[in-house]
Amino acid sequence: MIVYPDFKVRRFTEIDQTFLQTHDLQGLLVDLDNTLVAWHAMDIPDDIARHVAALRRDGIQLCITSNTYNFNRLRTLADTLGVHFYDGNAGKPGTRGLLAGLSQMGVPPQRAAMVGDQLFTDIKAGSRAGVKTILVNPLTSRDFIGTKLVSRTLENLVLRGAHSRP
Ligand SMILES: [Mg+2]
Repeated sequence: MIVYPDFKVRRFTEIDQTFLQTHDLQGLLVDLDNTLVAWHAMDIPDDIARHVAALRRDGIQLCITSNTYNFNRLRTLADTLGVHFYDGNAGKPGTRGLLAGLSQMGVPPQRAAMVGDQLFTDIKAGSRAGVKTILVNPLTSRDFIGTKLVSRTLENLVLRGAHSRP
């Protein structure tokens, strides 16, 4: 099944209060690698850290849902940002991490969105979980080799197809 994101932005910071109000969104399930931080990095870009803080001040709920096995890094980054996180591998495109995240945030699916850089994990999981989906450009091109060679190529084909639709 081919999935399309509901929205596309260049960077997480473009998902601002105006956007969230317009689409009646109260909670964001957020991918980690290449969405909030560079792949395998420990340092959060300043503008992204500031944006997360601003969203939290505005009462937006955030929960990191990552397909990671590096749980110490996940916890450290989530604690640094002060956001919820699914404490385990989110299993995207499965929905377990997203559904647990919704319940942690106390936000119903119709008022939540999944934000991530990969169609076949993040966007597919969001679509299956019944939340809105927002595709971001990957922060860096440095990525898991399998993702880079296989998924990215397929994604580009799918997205090119999406662009050419009337
Ligand atoms: Mg990612």
